[in-house]
Amino acid sequence: MVDLIPSSDTVMEILKRTGAFREGHFVYPNGKHSPHYFQMPLAFRYYDTARVLAVGLSRKFRVDRDISSQLPKVSIISPSSAGIPVAFGVRDALSAEQIYWAEKEEGRRMFRQYINNGEVNPCIIVDDIIRSGHAIEETAKLVRELGATVIGCGAIVRFTSAPDRLGDVPIRSLVEFDAHMYDSGDACSDCTKDAPPERVRF
Ligand SMILES: [Zn+2]
Repeated sequence: MVDLIPSSDTVMEILKRTGAFREGHFVYPNGKHSPHYFQMPLAFRYYDTARVLAVGLSRKFRVDRDISSQLPKVSIISPSSAGIPVAFGVRDALSAEQIYWAEKEEGRRMFRQYINNGEVNPCIIVDDIIRSGHAIEETAKLVRELGATVIGCGAIVRFTSAPDRLGDVPIRSLVEFDAHMYDSGDACSDCTKDAPPERVRF
């Protein structure tokens, strides 16, 4: 079963092919410069690709005895809309019972109203990409406020600068990416080469 987890190289090849991983000269809304950019929903617009990625991630949870012993009474949780296709794919592969996702309303991450009605199963938080880790940390807090426990966490891609644990829960990923970020244009190698910058929205 472990053999069916796609390698980091295979996943990066998929992300490049679908345009989800882009190389160039990018400027983020916070002013940081970077020679690469991930726009993960581009990989999830192809059903077959989405399935390979989500099933691959699901196997990282399946091999965890703590998690597999609790299936199917498990919830798959997404911190935002971008993680919803990941959550549905992982749910499908694990036959987990529930799916929830958070959204930002007036700048605050929250679940839909009345979602605490009924039982909330132990939770696995999944996302398409973990850049800083803030989204999953906020989501873990929401899960605990619902009275549920976090038993797993993971993403297709995790920046190595982000945390690799959520408390005592390891964060699993198919790709660990060493992201190069420059605080400003002064330090950016593409700026020194006069490469035209491309502004990205997230
Ligand atoms: Zn630059």
